[in-house]
Parts: sequence; C-alpha cells; structure tokens
Amino acid sequence: MIKVVKFGGSSVANSTQFRKVKNIIDSDESRKFIVTSACGKESHEDHKITDLLYLCEAHVRYGVSHEPVFDLIKNKYYGIKEDLGLTIDLDREFEMIEKQMLRDLNTDFLVSRGEYLTARCLAEYLGADFVDAAEVIAFRYDGSVDTERTKEMLQRKVRKDHKVVIPGFYGALPNGVIKVMTRGGSDITGSVLANVIDADIYENWTDVSGFLVADPRIIDNPMRIPRITYSELRGMSYMGANVLHDDAVFPVRSKNIPINIRNTNDPDNPGTVIMNDCSEPDKVEPPHAVTGITGRKDYTVITLVKSHSSAEVGFLRRILSIFEEYHVSIESVPITVDTFSIIVQTKAVDQCLYEIVGRLKKEFQPDDLKIEDHLALVAVVGRGMKQVPGMSGRFLSEFGRNHINIKIINQSSDELSIVVGVENRDFEKAIRCIYDKFIAEENKR
Ligand code: ASP
Repeated sequence: MIKVVKFGGSSVANSTQFRKVKNIIDSDESRKFIVTSACGKESHEDHKITDLLYLCEAHVRYGVSHEPVFDLIKNKYYGIKEDLGLTIDLDREFEMIEKQMLRDLNTDFLVSRGEYLTARCLAEYLGADFVDAAEVIAFRYDGSVDTERTKEMLQRKVRKDHKVVIPGFYGALPNGVIKVMTRGGSDITGSVLANVIDADIYENWTDVSGFLVADPRIIDNPMRIPRITYSELRGMSYMGANVLHDDAVFPVRSKNIPINIRNTNDPDNPGTVIMNDCSEPDKVEPPHAVTGITGRKDYTVITLVKSHSSAEVGFLRRILSIFEEYHVSIESVPITVDTFSIIVQTKAVDQCLYEIVGRLKKEFQPDDLKIEDHLALVAVVGRGMKQVPGMSGRFLSEFGRNHINIKIINQSSDELSIVVGVENRDFEKAIRCIYDKFIAEENKR
C-alpha cells in the first residue's frame, strides 16, 4: 500500500501544526509521498505565505521597499525553525531569494518559495528526503503537466523505501525555469504524483473533516458525506465552497484512485472519500438516496416569451450569444414552449443587465420579457436517487408541505441531481426540509 499525502496551508501554519503532521506521518508506514503547501494562516489576522510573496513581488516591481513584507515571511520560518529545533540554514536561503528577486524578478520563482521552504523544513522535521518539485514535476511549454517525464524524473530522484517531501504548487518547464500552477495548486501536485506512482489512495489533509451533507451554517451539526463520486462532487461544488482544486480530480480520476479528504486537527475522523466509481463499496454499504444538499442565493431570471419561437432553429443559440458577448456565464436554461428562461448569477449581470435586455428586445421583439431577482437555487445531489421512481415527487411534495413555492425545476438526465429554484427567503427552509426528511429521518431508521 502506497499513499500520497498532501497537507494544505493550515496544516503547516506553525510548529504546532507541524507536530500534528508528524504524528499523522509516523502513524502509518504507507504514507510515503508527502506534498506540502506553503504555510497558511495560523489565525484570522495572520497571512498566507503565498499571499505575502505575491505582495513582496508587487513591492519590488513598483520600487517600494519590500523589507517589511519580506520580514513577515522570514519571521514565520525562523519561528518554526526555532520551535522545532531545525538546522536548516535559513539565513542563506533568504539571502539567495532576496538576491535573485532584486537582480532579476521572476514572479513564479519568488512565489514558489513558500512551498519550497515549507517542504525543506518539513522534510528535516520528519526525517524524510527533500525532493524539489522543480526536479520532478515536469511542465510542457503549453503549461500542461508531462506525466511521462514526471514519472521518469521521479524514479530517478526518489530513493526506494524512503519517505519524501515534495513542495506543491510548482514544477519546471523543459528549460528548467520554474512555473507555478493556479492558486491552490498543491492539490494538483498531489494528484499528479498519485497518478504517476499508481498510489492506492491520495490523502488530502486540510482543516475540515471532508464534505458535509449540507452547510453547517444552515443545518446544526450536519452529517459527514462518507463517500462521493466525482460527478456528484461537481454537482455539489458548482454552487458551494470548494475544498479541493477542480483540476486535482483529472489525474486520479481515470485510474479510480480515491481521494480522501482528512482533517489534520481531527486525524481519527475518516473524512470523505471521493471516487470515480463507488459501486463496489456501495454494495457493502448502500448510500443514502441524497448525498448532499447545496445551493446558492441571488440569481436573476430573464424570461423571454415569443410565440412560435420554439419551432425556429437557432433561436436559443441567438439568445445565448448575447450573454456570451457580455461574458456572462449561464447557470441554467429552463425552456417550455415559446418561453425561454435564462438563469444567471445576479452579480454577473449587475453592470450589463439593461444592455442585455435592450439587445434582446431589439433583436427578438418578444411578446413578453420579464426579469426576476432574488431567486435561490437548491441542488439535491445523490447517486442513490438513480432509477428510484418517485424521488422528485417526494422532494416536491416536501416543499409543498412546507409552503415553499417552487419557481423552477430542473433534473439532469443522469438523475444525479435535481435543482429547484425558490425565493431567496425560502432558501434555508428548503435545505432544512430536505435534510430533515431525507437525511435525518432516514438515519433514525
Ligand atoms: N500556496 C499556494 C496558494 O496559496 C498553493 C496551495 O496552497 O495549494 O495558492
């Protein structure tokens, strides 16, 4: 069994967190490939090292003294070094970084130093080998990861039976120049490594115990989701907060390597396992009909009515192209005969709604054009709903019983999710009633 384990910024925010990481690594021999983010915030007032590095870059670029910001970064690492009794030569490291930054400012190199230094400290503390991501994560010039080359480089660099710590978030182009990923990219590093070494599992350690069935600000103490498929996760995340970088899914998905979201502050909690295909474990432990309930407030619906338009080829495309011109991403397009509703986030059209409406009027001369605000979308997601007759009926009657007026209904044909549009003011109530009926009640049985 080989595991790739990735620790997010909050898991390595200070020496106390480093100690927790050590306990996690020491408690399981198979945790061999360790990826780390840069130190994150240890409190609300604190700053992420990566943010400080970007700030430092801006100071240098605009010729403002970088020292106060650079000192904050230095203090963080000197504090960790002292608390943990490390021997890493930080004076030399910071001298090199500063020299390089003042001589020839390279943003990617500079901002990657957070992961680099964190990984150096962590490797020493864990008694593991340090392997620089610049030597093992290979990018092509087009910015994609070259898996084959990454595999070869990794085989050359990693000593058999040794634990290694590898910085997340960056790699190198074929000419050796450092390149960073998008923000939160350490998740991708972990996933790429899990793919190339054919890991049995990719553990992603963060500060939450996986995914919850519903938002804890709405439901008191909601249940944890033990297992979820990638498709369900997409259904959950397009509206809610993201724990995992979207692009971290692709490298492991094809091999069905599970990603296990774990909490560094609660290591005994099994967290959530994300898999491409949950059918095997589901045979042993069948899932609830509903995996998760999520949603978001503040959508705007623009409804255009024009008789006989449904029969007109290209009518919908012409409507949508106007939204595209204004770079507005569309959430959903419920259509009935001659009636086209376009649902968008209200904030996405706050600068251009009236221009769009003007264009629609001019180009289509509709019989009616309505704008409605204050719409909330509630998504009920679950692989367990598939081919269960009556599921949508049960949801809808639950809304009815709770006097929640439904404005829009949309079910995907893969039957993985049902999205219901309600008034903003009914949003919390809608989530609560589905949770109570389909999670809390089922669980009592
Ligand atoms: N440190 C980087 C960031 O803050 C990458 C990561 O944490 O995954 O975005």
